[in-house]
Amino acid sequence: MLFDSHCHLTDSAFDSDREEVVTRAVAAGVEGMVTICSDPRDLDGILELTLNYRELWGTAGIHPHEARHSSPEALERVREVVHDQPRIRAVGECGLDFHYDHSPREIQRAVFRAQLDLAEELGRPVVVHSRDADVDTAHMIREYRGRVTGVLHCFTGGAELLAVGLNAGWYVSFSGMVTFPGFEARDLLRTVPGDRLLVETDSPYLAPVPHRGKRNEPAFVARVAEAVAQLRGEPLERIAAASVENARAFYGI
Ligand SMILES: [Zn+2]
Repeated sequence: MLFDSHCHLTDSAFDSDREEVVTRAVAAGVEGMVTICSDPRDLDGILELTLNYRELWGTAGIHPHEARHSSPEALERVREVVHDQPRIRAVGECGLDFHYDHSPREIQRAVFRAQLDLAEELGRPVVVHSRDADVDTAHMIREYRGRVTGVLHCFTGGAELLAVGLNAGWYVSFSGMVTFPGFEARDLLRTVPGDRLLVETDSPYLAPVPHRGKRNEPAFVARVAEAVAQLRGEPLERIAAASVENARAFYGI
């Protein structure tokens, strides 16, 4: 069995066949999926999905790309949903993206901090997106150490960020990028303890080889797990079992 710890099933890329996508994932052995929120506008769709499928859980949060659209009302909606809805398990995805800079950096930092505060208040983990922002993300993890735990999703960072995250008790998640020839965090992937490792598709983005460039979907998490197993020199069964155990432990499922 497998677990896709991070996908975006409310994305419009799935509008025409969402039900088949979930069915295909279950048929491929995916026993659980967490559909991640990028913007509070996703939440109605996420709530509906998590109530309709027993294999689905969700999150609530504001992606760094959307940080400039954040408002006290949006954060209040995140708080309410995480607090009131048992199938919504974490705050996120939130974080910092200094690669695309779709929102000004000061706003990204403030909206990330607001969600770390919410996570602490609600006693839930955070799902963190960090791209070209290792120094700032590590700083935040250190600052909230012992108060908030999280996952560095779709990890592409460096050794220092990885060490800071692991030392603070965080999890690390790898996506289909592990199948790309240019994937740079290969050596770091080998050093992540087996009980802190998650796998994800981040679908509909980042389809693993041989689907690269096409729409991704949770069934392809099997391909991610295979590549992770190969890079770590471990049996696929062990990585698959860890994907389930660790996702359940992280999200409190
Ligand atoms: Zn994502």
